[in-house]
Amino acid sequence: MYMATNTHILVPEFDYRRPGSLSEVLALAAEHGDRARLIAGGTDLLVQMKMERDAPSLVISLAGIEELRGIASGDGLTIGAMTTIRDVAGSATVRRQYAALHEACQAFSTVQIMVMGTLGGNLCNASPAADTAPALLVLDARVDLVTGEGGRSVALGDFFTGPGRTVLAGGEVMQSVTLPEPGAGTGSAFLKISRVVADIAQVCAAVRLVRDGDTITDCRIALGSVAPTPLRIGRAEASLTGGNGGLEAFERAARIAAEEIRPISDVRATAAYRRHAAGVIVRDALTTAWRRAGEGGGK
Ligand SMILES: Cc1cc2nc3c(=O)[nH]c(=O)nc-3n(C[C@H](O)[C@H](O)[C@H](O)COP(=O)(O)OP(=O)(O)OC[C@H]3O[C@@H](n4cnc5c(N)ncnc54)[C@H](O)[C@@H]3O)c2cc1C
Repeated sequence: MYMATNTHILVPEFDYRRPGSLSEVLALAAEHGDRARLIAGGTDLLVQMKMERDAPSLVISLAGIEELRGIASGDGLTIGAMTTIRDVAGSATVRRQYAALHEACQAFSTVQIMVMGTLGGNLCNASPAADTAPALLVLDARVDLVTGEGGRSVALGDFFTGPGRTVLAGGEVMQSVTLPEPGAGTGSAFLKISRVVADIAQVCAAVRLVRDGDTITDCRIALGSVAPTPLRIGRAEASLTGGNGGLEAFERAARIAAEEIRPISDVRATAAYRRHAAGVIVRDALTTAWRRAGEGGGK
């Protein structure tokens, strides 16, 4: 039986455009609607096209749009959608202030993928296993989306609607991701388990705690590869908020997280393995974030 694979050449014909300005991208995307796809690093889109799961008649490259690249701090942090995973991982500001995002980008596959893959592509592809999604969810990220008609800002928690699906409307482009400044006493962490380093997650988890002495004043926990979309675990967060930090509390929250997720069995792991591993990495990430929060905060 014939089956297209990732090693397959690109069979269908398509037009390719590489505009030099965002307004040109938006005009092309609006004109061609559903028949067009945006391409950033291409590490997801080209796989889809090789496997004949997607066959756009026009591919619009974002590679020439410099205003979509770069990391700017001010009131929080703004990261252009075309910023590569490698550049996010290499940012000293991200490493110092947003440890969970730094660790999610560091955990990304191979150097080749980190150099080509972009932050915007990772989110817009909307894989339940996207590494940056749980990190950005706990860091309270918003995404800035734009069309020729204007822009809107969407909380990342409202962005994903299903596997491969988001609230992005036809012709809409993700411009940037914004993160609020972490307050004093904040600590975050990200952990991932995969079959081999160069693979997407069997399960990954990100947490962010705000600490006042021994008390947790705010807490966010999110997991990837355990449900149709990256998932916040509200009941585990509530179990910690307002109480004291420590191993017992973290183990209780981890048990709740393992109960709340909705994992499937697939080629990467069984549902039972995912459930067990989720509890372990949530506990460990909480322990690390708690320590970081006590080390002067800001992470
Ligand atoms: C070998 C291999 C290993 C991988 N390992 C990992 C891993 O460890 N962790 C992980 O999370 N992922 C992994 N991936 C998946 C992929 O590399 C990432 O999701 C990457 O961040 C995608 O970015 P990109 O720029 O290549 O996206 P593209 O493939 O260019 O685009 C992906 C989708 O997003 C849309 N899009 C892109 N940018 C925008 C924008 N600005 N506005 C609107 N829509 C946009 C495109 O139209 C397309 O539908 C791996 C992929 C491969 C092939």
